[in-house]
Amino acid sequence: MTTEHLSDTDIQLFVFDKGNADPGVVIHVLHCPHCAAKVEQYRTLAEGLAGQEKAVFDFHLATVVMDSLPRAKPKRRPEGLIIGLSLLMVATICFIPWRFFKMTTLIAAALIGTTTLCMMAFLLTDMYRIYKKQVKFLSI
Ligand SMILES: [Zn+2]
Repeated sequence: MTTEHLSDTDIQLFVFDKGNADPGVVIHVLHCPHCAAKVEQYRTLAEGLAGQEKAVFDFHLATVVMDSLPRAKPKRRPEGLIIGLSLLMVATICFIPWRFFKMTTLIAAALIGTTTLCMMAFLLTDMYRIYKKQVKFLSI
């Protein structure tokens, strides 16, 4: 038997879930009048709550509560921005080498195209990684 009195959590566990109460708690309650009195108070409280009538409303409570809650502003979905940026990148890839092809060499155009494709692949991969991370976070 412990020499200190039980915490409210232990007493509540003893009263409301006696099957899972620690055997030390049960022994303490049996031998300590202070904790036994608290157990009796919790039992009286539980009986009083169980004996109360359930509230009946003549309106739909969930609707009233949901209507009173502030609404979240709809966030702009990033798909439009991503598609726009992708189209801009593709246009850049196609337009710049064609426009300056006559002024530059084929190697310079290939370097510009390769660099642009690598950057686009890196950025899209990074965006996809962040997207998957956010979806995983939200689905937990
Ligand atoms: Zn006690």
